[in-house]
Amino acid sequence: MANSWMMRHRPCKRNGIVNILSQDIKYLQGVGPNRALLLANELGIKTVGDLLAYYPYKYVDRSRFYQIREIDGAMPYVQLCGQIFSFDTVGEGRNKRLIGHFSDGTGSIDLVWFQGIKYVTKNYDCRKDYVVFGKPTVFNGKIQIAHPEIETLPSPSLQGGNDFSANENADEQGNNPLPIGRVRGGSVFRPSYNTSEKMKRSGLNSSAIAKLTANMFKLLKEPLAETLPPYIVQQHHLMSYDDAVRNIHYPTSPDALRHAQLRLKFEELFYVQLNILRYVKDRQLRYKGIVFNTIGEHFNGFFYNHLPFQLTEAQKRVIREIRADMKTGRQMNRLLQGDVGSGKTLVALMVALIAIDNGYQACIMAPTEILAEQHLDTLRELLGDLPVRVELLTGTVKGKKRTAVFEGLVTGDIHILVGTHAVIEDNVMFNKLGLVVIDEQHRFGVAQRAKLWMKNSVPPHVLVMTATPIPRTLAMTLYGDLDVSVIDELPPGRKPIHTVHMFDAHRQRIYQLMNRELQLGRQIYIVYPLIKETEKMDLKDLEAGFEEINKAFPNYKVGKVHGKMKPADKDAEMQRFASHETHILVSTTVIEVGVNVPNASVMIIENAERFGLSQLHQLRGRVGRGADQSYCVLVTKFEIGETTRKRIQVMVDTTDGFEIAEQDLKLRGPGDLEGTQQSGMAFDLKIANLARDGQILNIARDTAQAVITFDPEERNPQNDILWRRLRELRKSNINWGAIS
Ligand code: ADP
Ligand code: MG
Repeated sequence: MANSWMMRHRPCKRNGIVNILSQDIKYLQGVGPNRALLLANELGIKTVGDLLAYYPYKYVDRSRFYQIREIDGAMPYVQLCGQIFSFDTVGEGRNKRLIGHFSDGTGSIDLVWFQGIKYVTKNYDCRKDYVVFGKPTVFNGKIQIAHPEIETLPSPSLQGGNDFSANENADEQGNNPLPIGRVRGGSVFRPSYNTSEKMKRSGLNSSAIAKLTANMFKLLKEPLAETLPPYIVQQHHLMSYDDAVRNIHYPTSPDALRHAQLRLKFEELFYVQLNILRYVKDRQLRYKGIVFNTIGEHFNGFFYNHLPFQLTEAQKRVIREIRADMKTGRQMNRLLQGDVGSGKTLVALMVALIAIDNGYQACIMAPTEILAEQHLDTLRELLGDLPVRVELLTGTVKGKKRTAVFEGLVTGDIHILVGTHAVIEDNVMFNKLGLVVIDEQHRFGVAQRAKLWMKNSVPPHVLVMTATPIPRTLAMTLYGDLDVSVIDELPPGRKPIHTVHMFDAHRQRIYQLMNRELQLGRQIYIVYPLIKETEKMDLKDLEAGFEEINKAFPNYKVGKVHGKMKPADKDAEMQRFASHETHILVSTTVIEVGVNVPNASVMIIENAERFGLSQLHQLRGRVGRGADQSYCVLVTKFEIGETTRKRIQVMVDTTDGFEIAEQDLKLRGPGDLEGTQQSGMAFDLKIANLARDGQILNIARDTAQAVITFDPEERNPQNDILWRRLRELRKSNINWGAIS
């Protein structure tokens, strides 16, 4: 499919074009100081080059003509060809409007103007052929188009030589003489650009931006320089950069648009991957890894005498992968993904035992104090009488206890340190730190991870564990510097959680379920959404819910936790629930991560529509930890949108975290996914979509990897263009620089 336009190599005067691209947007025809300010503040467009990179979000096909009898008020923009038969002015004052009765022989509609009435009657004539373009709506039972765009029929010379015939009317009718509605620059597609409300109020709407991009292309007469090495362009049969940016704004054909999109998506993903993989290479060159080649008494002692159950196959596989990685002499940087309850803690412990067998210490980091304490208890219980010392370091470990921990770490008496953020503070020093495990990684950024490396002369191996399954495409981008292991199997004997969607009006049925479970001796969580822990408004729901539940269940004890409570009070309340002193726990999402109360069998989530899917999945994972049947009730109001209904349905249909994550990515887009903001490798993709462009991403990553592999010292002159571009991108994209 090497079309001629793909390979066209035109001579280019690079400097002239570069100058235009770096020119202040203010001087572009149609901009001026006021609009320049708006463009800069609202869209970050400061130069002509920025405008060039401001791609349309959709296109309106101007090659398609509709017949009036085909259209209805639900259609998007349509293009018609016909004549105005008469004008009427109706209404008075603010209601005054001009109606043009428009017909194409198959039916008639009203064209309506509220403003510019004089201009219209002066410039458009009755019984003359016009191309009319706009969004049909229904008013008083009649279809109308308000403020349509009107053009006279293009002269016959323009109609010749069009290279595609998307004119479906002509096909149907056979003899329809309708023209191809070419707009600027020979394009049949009209670009639509996103603009803000503020911009629209000042007349800078989509079509105003389109005028600016058209003016821009008038300046860009010379071809733009290629931004990828020719060998990569050829290898993947990509459109040239110059053709791609022109076609992305003003496509000359649907096919050209597809190729332009492909080229620009590839390029975008390629540079993101090149940035990541180059960083990985540098990291490997800069840091040697500790070699763990012994499996000794700690690991074996635990494995043969203390393991309370058989490892799942997935756990075994993952431990093997990690062991192999830690033997290579490279520093391990691995992401361990495993659904809630898949047994990651056990894996972490066994890996820590390998570190201890090799004479090193391990550190396990959790995002909250409650979790850190829980890990401490779990590890101590699992280890039993094995000679492994595990200690805790959190913000609440103070005074003598804290000093003792610091000492034990420096002397090496402490084998495993469990803690929160507190462990990365500068004054925490280890004797020989060999392994860092970070649980629930999405709360830790790349910078924090890197800080841990400095705790040993040779950086420790790093294992990042997450129960928020991340779709592969997202993982490759957000955590593209990590190798990935997956536990894709739950320990045997778990019953899938039964999930139902109920409306507020079903309160009595929900209470029935609750009563039944309470009578069986089970416990119940009720969770309320909290947008910002600081906002009082959100707490009102929680307080009201708490009172209501107290009234409805007078024979049971109800606890309450939220983020505004003092940590000690919060912990105490959680503890009361864990020890079954309270039966129902009303809370905000503070219980989200990792808390383990196996006797709890019901999770009720109020205003479920306000949670992200992965968050719902996390919350649901709080139940179903024992052997009994558990339930999750997702409560919403009756009136919810289509997307919301679909999202809730995903939760009802599956308990597979990966499936949920994929669906979430599809329904919401990557920008909203949890973890994207905190990851530290946040990125802002202009055109590629991680939900849809997985295939392009794979190719882009492989291509970037090949560049790194075959030109590790960056000496190949063919790649100069590529490193130069990467430097530019790193300069203009703050987050890109943040990864090294
Ligand atoms: P998560 O991956 O969510 O951190 P945990 O490590 O907390 O999961 O494990 C959940 C529960 O499953 C714990 O009670 C743990 O003891 C248990 N568990 C872990 N591995 C196995 C196994 N192979 N067989 C049976 N139970 C297991
Ligand atoms: Mg866990």
